[in-house]
Formats: sequence, C-alpha cells, structure tokens
Amino acid sequence: YTGKSGTQLLTENLKKLYVRDYHSLPVVVHENLSVYDAICHMFLEDVGTLFVVDLKSRLTGVLSRKDLLRASIGQQDLTSLPVNVIMTRMPNVTFCEKDDLLVNVATKLIDKQIDSLPVVRQMDEGYEVFGRITKTNITKAFVSLSKDEM
Ligand code: ADP
Repeated sequence: YTGKSGTQLLTENLKKLYVRDYHSLPVVVHENLSVYDAICHMFLEDVGTLFVVDLKSRLTGVLSRKDLLRASIGQQDLTSLPVNVIMTRMPNVTFCEKDDLLVNVATKLIDKQIDSLPVVRQMDEGYEVFGRITKTNITKAFVSLSKDEM
C-alpha cells in the first residue's frame, strides 16, 4: 500500500495524459475560401471548428460555428467573402503541441472559453497544424481514467 490518497493517485494519472495520445485530425481550409464554402465544409466534415492556413500551410486563423453564423446574419454575399476577413487570426490563436499535458489544454479551453485548440509544430516561419483537441477528446480521456485504462 502506497499510502497515497485518491486525489494524489488521480493527479498522478492526469499527468500521464498527453495531447499526442488523444488528439484528432484537423479540418483545415485555405484563407481565401469563401464563408459560404466554409459553412459547407463544416457540415460535410462534421466539426465545430475549422483551422485556416495560408499557401505555405502555416496556421493563420480559426473559424468557429459562431463566427460563421455572425457573418451569415449580415447583408454580405457569403460566396465572395473570404474567411480571413471574419476568422480569429494569429497571433490571437491559442494552440498546443503534442507533448503538452491534456490538463493544460483543458485549462486553456476554460480560461479562453473556446471549444478546441489546433495541435501544431513549429516550422521555419510559423506553425503547421497536424491535429486538433476538442472538449470531446478531453471527455474521452476523462472516461478512460474512470475505466482504469492507465
Ligand atoms: P463557438 O463560437 O461556435 O461557440 P468557440 O467557443 O470555440 O466556438 O469560439 C468562440 C470564439 O473564439 C470564436 O470567435 C472563435 O473564432 C474563437 N476561437 C475558437 N478557438 C480558438 C482558439 N484555439 N484560439 C483563439 N480563438 C479561438
């Protein structure tokens, strides 16, 4: 018997949960895509967040459902409005890396009141997106703790 409390054991196990083991694939669009096409993309890919990249595949922004809804209730022509006009752009995008702890990602989601983070790796200039972490991924990790899959 280790003499550790339940909370200590839980904390230890939480610190074994890394982004690299729980992230999903990102859905990425180019910054010149129209808002109209981005909406179609979001439905077809069944995600709540699209990540926006430039021609060199560098992360430039994030598009949420509400960003697209907000643009849609204006009088603008959605087929000629590029997503880079309405997205949340760098350097205001919160992101994480594969070796980050999931609990730190969860803290960022709560603090910033957002649903997901891109998982990035540093490139020559900027960041390449290769994953995404959402509240669903965190919930799955939470369930795996309860099932003692550690
Ligand atoms: P929704 O807007 O559909 O509720 P979010 O809560 O994720 O989805 O997004 C809220 C706002 O925060 C949006 O304007 C969105 O562009 C922005 N946002 C979402 N994810 C991020 C992120 N990782 N970094 C910075 N801003 C983000």
